[in-house]
Amino acid sequence: MARVEKAKVSTYDGEVWEYLTYAPGHTCCACTRTVQPLEPVRRGTIERASGSPVTVYRHNECPRAGAVT
Ligand SMILES: [Zn+2]
Repeated sequence: MARVEKAKVSTYDGEVWEYLTYAPGHTCCACTRTVQPLEPVRRGTIERASGSPVTVYRHNECPRAGAVT
């Protein structure tokens, strides 16, 4: 059975995940580990009351994130 990656937009703790991408070297905000080159991550932004939105990354299948949906 073919595996399909969904890039569905969802909200999680006030964060908005935009799409799947790769961000090696960045830190996963859920497990705080460094993202490896072959690990798909979700790019997201956090709106802050002061200052510009912050871009964050989280593993698409992060063991710490649990069930997001
Ligand atoms: Zn992670």
